[in-house]
Amino acid sequence: GAAVEISHLSKVYKTREDDDVVAIERIDLQFEPGTFVAVVGPSGCGKSTLLSMLAGLVSASTGKIAIDGDAISRPHPKIGVVFQSDLLLYWRTVLDNILLPIEIKRLDLSKFRTRAEELLEQVGLKGFGKKYPSELSGGMRQRVAICRALIQEPGLLLMDEPFGALDALTREQMIMDMQSMWLRVQNTVLFITHGIDEAVFLADRVLVMSPRPGRIDLDLKIDMPRP
Ligand code: ADP
Ligand code: ADP
Repeated sequence: GAAVEISHLSKVYKTREDDDVVAIERIDLQFEPGTFVAVVGPSGCGKSTLLSMLAGLVSASTGKIAIDGDAISRPHPKIGVVFQSDLLLYWRTVLDNILLPIEIKRLDLSKFRTRAEELLEQVGLKGFGKKYPSELSGGMRQRVAICRALIQEPGLLLMDEPFGALDALTREQMIMDMQSMWLRVQNTVLFITHGIDEAVFLADRVLVMSPRPGRIDLDLKIDMPRP
C-alpha cells in the first residue's frame, strides 16, 4: 500500500452567489501504508470532497496531498476509485469493463487479462468475464467495479459509499466477502460510509467528521482481531 500525507488541506467552493462554502478546513492526516481508513459523518460534512481531492478530481484550495511522496493534482495510476454507482459500460463485457483503464492508458492488454481473471475469482465471479453488466445483480456489478479499480494494482483505493446503493442483505454479504479480499490486496484504503458499524468492522482507523463541514472530530484506532 501507499503512504498518504495530507497537509493543511482546505477546499472552499466558490458559488455564484458569492457565499463561499467551506467543505474541508485545514486538515492534516497521514495514512500508514496498508491501513484501511473509514470516514463517517453527516451528509454535507465534506467526505466526498476529501475523497475527490485524493482522487485528483477536485483541486485543493490550499495545502497538499502526497502519495508515496508524489504530490497529487490529477488522477493517478496509483489510485483506484469506486463510487456508489458502478459506472460500468453496459455495452462491454465484464472483462472489457475491468480492462478499460488499461485500454485508456494504451498499455499492453494481453499482460492484464490474467490479472483481470484472477480479480474476478477473488471477488467470487470466476467465469463471469464474458457476461454483460445487465446479466448481473447490483452486488455483482459493484464487485466488477472494484476489480476495475484494482486492475492497475493501485497503492491507494478510494471508495465513496461503494455499497450505498445495495439492499441491506446484499450489502451485508458484500462487506463480509470484501473484507478477506482487502486483507489480501494490502493496499491503503479510504472508505466513505454512512454505516458506523461497517466502518468499525472493516477499518483499522475511523475518522469521524464534524457536522460543521470540513473538520475531523475524532480519529479512532480500531483494534480488532483480523480473521
Ligand atoms: P458529504 O460527502 O459529506 O456529503 P460533500 O463533500 O459532498 O459532503 O459536501 C461538503 C459541502 O460542500 C456541502 O456543504 C456541499 O453542499 C458543498 N459542496 C460540495 N460540492 C460542491 C460543489 N461542487 N459546489 C459547491 N458546493 C459544493
Ligand atoms: P453525497 O452526500 O453522497 O456526497 P451529495 O448529494 O452531497 O452526495 O453530492 C452529490 C454531488 O453534488 C457531489 O459531486 C457534490 O460535489 C455535488 N454538490 C453537492 N453540493 C453541491 C452544491 N451546493 N453545489 C454544487 N454541487 C454540489
